[in-house]
Amino acid sequence: MCTMMMKRDLLVAAKTVDTPKTLLTFAYKPTGVNRYGFLYFKMGWQKGVNSGINESGLAVLSSYAGTKLPKSENQDTRGLANELALSRCRTVQEGLHTLETFFTEQPSGVGGTHFLMDAEGGMAVFEHEPHLSTKGQLIQSDYMIRANESLLLQDEEMRLIEWEDRRLRYTQAEMGIKEMSGATWLEEMKKLLSTHLPNDQQQIGSLCIHDFENKGSRSKDLSVHSTETALIIDIKNRRLIYSDGPPCHNQWAALTFNH
Ligand SMILES: [Zn+2]
Repeated sequence: MCTMMMKRDLLVAAKTVDTPKTLLTFAYKPTGVNRYGFLYFKMGWQKGVNSGINESGLAVLSSYAGTKLPKSENQDTRGLANELALSRCRTVQEGLHTLETFFTEQPSGVGGTHFLMDAEGGMAVFEHEPHLSTKGQLIQSDYMIRANESLLLQDEEMRLIEWEDRRLRYTQAEMGIKEMSGATWLEEMKKLLSTHLPNDQQQIGSLCIHDFENKGSRSKDLSVHSTETALIIDIKNRRLIYSDGPPCHNQWAALTFNH
């Protein structure tokens, strides 16, 4: 569904949202008893939330990861897992543990990759696929990227799905994120999320797509996809920045805890 990335020194995580047309919600869920308040993004078809940041600075992002294997009978529980981690956890260790427990008890019928980042710069990734095991790990590298591929699960079948679209997006994101630094990072990130690869009408490898014929590289839903929005989670300033429309239209808004 998306291209996801996070960069430790900037305390920033970001993603595109590639989807068939759907309702997009950007909102705040208030603090409750034994529960952190959080800013979140969700799609109309989704239970729970796609991505968000809570008041203690934990960011959770998710996207599709999957194979050509048939759909599982289980429901898609990814958004519920995200919501639980956002409302209960402060660190990536707590978040990872919560996701591991959740998916053991309520396995998702749709595979996914979840990114976690906390206010101390901790990073973790969790991957699951209905026909495979699940795997999570704390990340020691300076950055982390996924373009709908599961790298921890090492599934051979996964390599056959429109691999070029995933590989090219990974490479684009990696080039952009390595260079990103200093005072200009936000503008650089907005530009990276808007990347169109030139001279390719099929848009293979573009981070921002428009009426893209999805053959399985971005989602299990084989219909026309567009990048309906992109998210930038600025942990340091506790902001959820998002594009109003495709990121390449360059209309951006932000949610904060101060409203
Ligand atoms: Zn675009």
